[in-house]
Amino acid sequence: MRASYSNCEAPGTKRIELPWPIGAWRDELTQCLSSVDELLGRIGLTRDDVGLGPDAEVAEQAFRLRVPRGLVSRIRPGRPQDPILLQILPTDSETREAPGFVADPLGEEARVADGGFVQKYQGRALVVLTGACAVNCRYCFRRHFPYERAGDVDRALESVASDPTISEVILSGGDPLVLSDSRLEGILASVERLASIRRIRIHTRLPVVLPQRVDTGLLDVLSGRAVPIVVVIHANHAQELSEDVRIACSAMAEAGITLLNQTVLLAGINDDVESLVALSETLFDCGVLPYYLHLLDKVAGAAHFDVGEECARTLMAEVSARLPGYLVPRLVREVEGARSKVVLSPNPPEPEPKRHKKSSHKKARKR
Ligand code: SF4
Repeated sequence: MRASYSNCEAPGTKRIELPWPIGAWRDELTQCLSSVDELLGRIGLTRDDVGLGPDAEVAEQAFRLRVPRGLVSRIRPGRPQDPILLQILPTDSETREAPGFVADPLGEEARVADGGFVQKYQGRALVVLTGACAVNCRYCFRRHFPYERAGDVDRALESVASDPTISEVILSGGDPLVLSDSRLEGILASVERLASIRRIRIHTRLPVVLPQRVDTGLLDVLSGRAVPIVVVIHANHAQELSEDVRIACSAMAEAGITLLNQTVLLAGINDDVESLVALSETLFDCGVLPYYLHLLDKVAGAAHFDVGEECARTLMAEVSARLPGYLVPRLVREVEGARSKVVLSPNPPEPEPKRHKKSSHKKARKR
């Protein structure tokens, strides 16, 4: 039997008690809010308060509102600029075209259609497991992605199996953790059977937006696997990291899962030094290390979230001065077709100034 979370408690150790029952997340998922007016009513605001005009309804039709009630409870009532609210509220700005902002900013569509998975970078394959999410984030770079064409997970895994150069499989979506425990178990078992695979990475926003997903059923699936599991949670602001999120992350860490965080730099939400410092420090309190701070991928409908590269570098210089190195995420940009993410900060070390040859000094003195 695989040493899973429930069956391998060491004598004398005490497990983190999860304050929610197994499977409770399913009810939370089905009860997500999808009405803008209901959302605004719950947080004491009106459409006028948040500046919604007629185009906001067009944005809403194109990419509907979806948010778990637990995340709504973390929005501070009466504040139109709340950093969680701004991530989920459809606005008029989304309908404005902006040069350079396109439906598929990373050119993923063709690559998924070709092989069933996205060959990200050398040795790594990204498999899109589902198009479903618990939350619809307005800045999402896959907000126009044709998930129906990437739905054949078995074919994607066959493609991965036929390429022995792949050592890491990245499970993505949508959100992979909306799948049932049994489906995830089957996928992880298939991947870890491949001889070349050394790590499985899961990108998910569920531990942040719906921490009840981290129950003993999921911990059983993720722990004690033949290859290490890395979970990358996607938190953008410290206000998202509630006590329940801390408990969920601590339980995953206790189950032997490596936890990292990836953030998108978003104008008006986290593009200030205090927010970024608070995010890194709160992530560490949750047992999560900051990993990447991404410049926005230029997806159509999200131009109003864009933060320029120079501004981002300046911010990171300040953040680096305030935090120990292990709490400073790398500032990166994804470039379609590049061999890796482009790291913008920390900057590569400056080349040492050239020393003058001694002989030339002597000559100079003689002159
Ligand atoms: S894929 Fe991630 S960023 Fe996009 S809507 Fe889903 S949870 Fe949000």
